[in-house]
Amino acid sequence: MKAAHREDLIPAYRIKRDDGGTSLMFRCPHCQAVHSHGEPDGEPAVLTGRGAHCSNPQSPWQGRGYRLMIVGSVRSSKQLPSITATDIVALNEAVTGS
Ligand SMILES: [Zn+2]
Repeated sequence: MKAAHREDLIPAYRIKRDDGGTSLMFRCPHCQAVHSHGEPDGEPAVLTGRGAHCSNPQSPWQGRGYRLMIVGSVRSSKQLPSITATDIVALNEAVTGS
């Protein structure tokens, strides 16, 4: 069963942390900060749901979740590409066909 409301898909990148763990990160177009979520050990997945922790009160993700779609890996958060809110909407429309 799918949730009644669809959570946005967001392209995210894996980054190896100094402590040996892995984080999933993307540069947020709504608050301009890098959102970072831990990736559970031994549970690699292309899609993973997370609660958003966006600091922009206008963010559509405020108080909701989203799904991270892991599209690659980078060495540091400085290498994360910028993505616009429009890009994310277009991606979601393309994936869902709506
Ligand atoms: Zn944000």
